[in-house]
Amino acid sequence: MFIGHFAVAFGAKRYAPRVSMALLTAAVAWADLLWTAFLPSGWEHVRISPGDTAFTPFDLYDYPWSHSLLMLVLWGVLLGAVYWWVQKDTTGAPVVGACVVSHWVLDWVTHRPDMPLYPGGRKFGLGLWNSIAGTMAVELTMYIAGVRIYATATRAKNPVGRYAFWAYVALLLFFYIGDRFSNTPNSVGEIAWTGLIATMVLLAWAWWFDRNREVAGTV
Ligand SMILES: [Zn+2]
Repeated sequence: MFIGHFAVAFGAKRYAPRVSMALLTAAVAWADLLWTAFLPSGWEHVRISPGDTAFTPFDLYDYPWSHSLLMLVLWGVLLGAVYWWVQKDTTGAPVVGACVVSHWVLDWVTHRPDMPLYPGGRKFGLGLWNSIAGTMAVELTMYIAGVRIYATATRAKNPVGRYAFWAYVALLLFFYIGDRFSNTPNSVGEIAWTGLIATMVLLAWAWWFDRNREVAGTV
């Protein structure tokens, strides 16, 4: 899953108004961030095999530390605790933790059974990725819902808050659709570096538009 994760970050803002979109996005993408770091380290592995499922050319056969449910619960507790330690935001901290764990749930829906319960444990997955139309229908619906929640829970303080936000929304959509027509990556290194750099840019961007918006308040 791709923009479905971002949808969760957008929607989470309503429940954690003090948490920056950059952190909410880092939380929902935490598993993939770790994955892009662990691949070059050799701690996790992926095979490029076009047709593995209809939607992705990746055979995700070994990612116990970034994508098992147990590890994501632990990562979620850790991230939530660090955030609480720094900000003392009791409302936001559990939401940050839940965002990290949400990654497993969404990937479980889309992946074929390659999502481990714990490192070395049984693997699960409903395999929505076997259908391109099904995957896109689910993710786009989630995305529209998430963006709507964020757009009503916050409001722009200035033009940056308005246009940088909508540009970000459009760019993610463009990436998502464009990915259907792009070439399969040539190497695991390419997957890792493009993923890592793209995520860093998106996090900085999210931080930028979010600080130029404010909580809409209860009307
Ligand atoms: Zn993932």
